[in-house]
Amino acid sequence: MAEVISYPFLAVVGQEEMKTALILAAINPRVRGVLLVGPRGTGKTTAARGLVDLLPPVPRSMCPQGCEPRLAAISSEYICPDCAAKLDAGEEITYSAPMQVFELPLNATMDDVLGGPNPRIALEQSRWQLQQGLLYYAHSNVLYVDEINLLDEDIVNCILDAASRGYYVVRRGRLIGTFPSQFLLIGSMNPEEGQLRPQLMDRLGLRVVVSPLPDPEQRMEVYERNRRFADDPVSFAAGYADETMALAEEIARAKDLLPRVTIPSDIARPAIRLIESLKIQSHRAEIVLLEASRARAAADGRTEVKHEDINVTALLALRQRRSDFMERFVMESREEDERIASGIDAILGHENG
Ligand SMILES: [Zn+2]
Repeated sequence: MAEVISYPFLAVVGQEEMKTALILAAINPRVRGVLLVGPRGTGKTTAARGLVDLLPPVPRSMCPQGCEPRLAAISSEYICPDCAAKLDAGEEITYSAPMQVFELPLNATMDDVLGGPNPRIALEQSRWQLQQGLLYYAHSNVLYVDEINLLDEDIVNCILDAASRGYYVVRRGRLIGTFPSQFLLIGSMNPEEGQLRPQLMDRLGLRVVVSPLPDPEQRMEVYERNRRFADDPVSFAAGYADETMALAEEIARAKDLLPRVTIPSDIARPAIRLIESLKIQSHRAEIVLLEASRARAAADGRTEVKHEDINVTALLALRQRRSDFMERFVMESREEDERIASGIDAILGHENG
């Protein structure tokens, strides 16, 4: 299949915050992906699709069934006889290929996500064989979930579980398979069409509010670039090739540097105080904020986080995390505990004494 040319990431006009968030999440998987919130037609999907041109190549199966060494490592029953023979002979069954974006369709079923029965094998050989689902193919790639707020909650949960654990489990009768699945999760939603439950929202890393461009000149530029891309995608993309390659190299360097990036405690402490002062309950807030700050330091070629990294990433990491309900809930249960404790003192303490 011919590679489809996607609209270059760097040709997206404006939306700097969205671009920053996507790049930071690509540098550091611990940031736990990005949620893009905004109306339709503001470039969310375009940016998500274009991001892969900036990321390093990944192994891709040569086999139509998607056999990879990671499957053979789990059980030989997951790979086809041809690939098993190749692996035995010490031959490659994957090649290095550009990263891909896998998009979850709105009507996806649990089988589509986790894998389900292979219909061809079931028909021809009347036996059950696993046909891998989206989480399998998304491994090492990007998983884009458009309109995440409209999806079945069980499916969203299942994807978020895989994203946070780095693996997922398929159960069929006595067959249980655990498959690695590490991917960059990008969700998008239009708040006009419904909210995402706070429990699900909390599990997504950075949040960007993608607004329509305020400047008429920029809107004109969006139109012009889209027209030029539609007329001739190859030469339009070629116009951004050098810049794209330079940014891809910067991202690769940042990924290499990331393990060495540290956060001095005089930088981390005020960040935690900020989260406390905002009355954000979830500890995911500090993980996302500190990890995004490490990614930003790495992107800047540094091995130490500075105040500026926290300042720039705080909005991305912390917006839409505070919950009135949880704040009330925690306060009420503290008050209840105090009432119980004073009851213990007044009544039981007295009885004992
Ligand atoms: Zn195979």
